[in-house]
Amino acid sequence: MAAEFTTDLIENRLWLSEQNSKGLPTAGNGRGARKLGQQAVVVGAGIGGLAAAGALAQYFERVDILERDRLATSVASRSGTPQDRHPHGLLAGGLQALDQIFTGFKSDLAAAGAVPVSFAREVQFERPDVGVLPKRDFGISVLCATRPLIELVLRRRTEAVANITLRSASRVIGNVPAAGGAGASGVQFVNGSGRFETLDADLTVDASGRGEPTLTLLDALCWDRPQMTEIGVDISYATAVVEIPPDATTEWKAVLTLPDPPHLALHAIIVPMEDGHWIAAIADHSATAWIETWDALLEASRSLITPTVHNALRYAQPPEGIRHYRFPVSTWKHFERLPRLPRGVLPVADALCRFNPIHGQGMSSASLQARLLQDVLHRAADEPDPIAALQSGFMSEVASVLETPWTMSTSADLAFPQTRGERPDNFAEAREFEAALFRAAVADPVVHRAMIEVAHLLQPQSRLQEPDIVRRIQAASVVQAAA
Ligand SMILES: Cc1cc2nc3c(=O)[nH]c(=O)nc-3n(C[C@H](O)[C@H](O)[C@H](O)COP(=O)(O)OP(=O)(O)OC[C@H]3O[C@@H](n4cnc5c(N)ncnc54)[C@H](O)[C@@H]3O)c2cc1C
Repeated sequence: MAAEFTTDLIENRLWLSEQNSKGLPTAGNGRGARKLGQQAVVVGAGIGGLAAAGALAQYFERVDILERDRLATSVASRSGTPQDRHPHGLLAGGLQALDQIFTGFKSDLAAAGAVPVSFAREVQFERPDVGVLPKRDFGISVLCATRPLIELVLRRRTEAVANITLRSASRVIGNVPAAGGAGASGVQFVNGSGRFETLDADLTVDASGRGEPTLTLLDALCWDRPQMTEIGVDISYATAVVEIPPDATTEWKAVLTLPDPPHLALHAIIVPMEDGHWIAAIADHSATAWIETWDALLEASRSLITPTVHNALRYAQPPEGIRHYRFPVSTWKHFERLPRLPRGVLPVADALCRFNPIHGQGMSSASLQARLLQDVLHRAADEPDPIAALQSGFMSEVASVLETPWTMSTSADLAFPQTRGERPDNFAEAREFEAALFRAAVADPVVHRAMIEVAHLLQPQSRLQEPDIVRRIQAASVVQAAA
């Protein structure tokens, strides 16, 4: 059944992609690098943990990933990542970062059945102010697949690295405080047989999603927890997996239909996944009730800003069920503002920053953080105290990775009056700039490309403030005002 994604075809493709990737190095810049320590531990085998392990492998003799779930060998949803039953878009910047850490990851994912989609040529991108964005070819492609497939391909690449061990059914209880205080000397965990074990580590990377191991250690040391920036979005998902109807349009492969704040809070997304299915979701800000049935989902799709999603889904076969997820709040835990971290621990990915999922940034941000980790490891290896240099180096630069996705997503969310959180002083100005940017993108391919590159985390947001882009946005405004 499609919902469990366990076809023989996918298994065969995975096997083939694994054969193709055998013997490939992981990342290039760490080969033969000086080691920072004997043992690194990663808590959590989600996208953040797997990507971080790939970065660490060349700088530690051994890397162990401890994952509380018992991991399947096939493409399957799991309880530790309940979000994996909903659409998971990997942005071009995230895909590029994973391909840099695990050389050939892109071709592995494609060989496993992920569907290539070209931005903006094959994407129906709909906004209330400008309508449908032009379908132009910028040579920017993504690979669409379910989250379980993306994770399985990444997991197999990680497991193929000789000095990485993935221990499933291993739930971390906490960090072991270092003898001299002010840090951790490893982790304590419960193994698959229910026995307590301790693993000594020079570095523990917390990719547990919530960051509990790191927060609990701060509490134990009586150190302050990090400040948090929270944006209360209260978004709820209703997701369905359907077979792509035989007469589906060839004008697009994926649809993104944006809401119209403050009046209409419904987003919609249709993405192709492996083996002839669409995963479709309608997401609602501040919804009070679930969309329970296929008919209710179709009915909700009628209220979107365009009929595209409704027309695409109305002739699809009803799925077995509608899946739900509620995401209350985007959270940036500002570990980077702490005077220092406990020695030997490093929170990454969702443990640092959780984004409103509708903007599709979490996996890509996690992957870009792993790339940053790789760069910082490379530099820290030559320092007299490489672990301390790694912690401070990563924390001093991580905001530069988080700022672009955080600003883009929170700015869109804060346009809804019901969204909880502080509006920046220049909020109205930033919204006006965004509207002008989209109007210019319709008219000018150079602006359109820059916008796509920033949205896909291939370029920082500052790209849109560069003089050539600002000039083009102004020129488009003048033409549009005169028309
Ligand atoms: C509904 C929804 C839709 C989303 N859509 C997208 C999208 O389209 N694109 C995108 O890029 N991102 C999306 N995301 C976000 C994305 O899932 C995460 O940001 C991304 O996977 C990175 O997460 P992570 O690896 O840090 O944490 P997670 O994926 O949550 O993984 C954490 C792992 O740690 C394990 N763990 C936790 N505690 C322990 C412990 N004590 N011991 C051992 N193991 C432990 C868990 O079992 C889990 O495997 C979405 C999220 C949601 C909720």
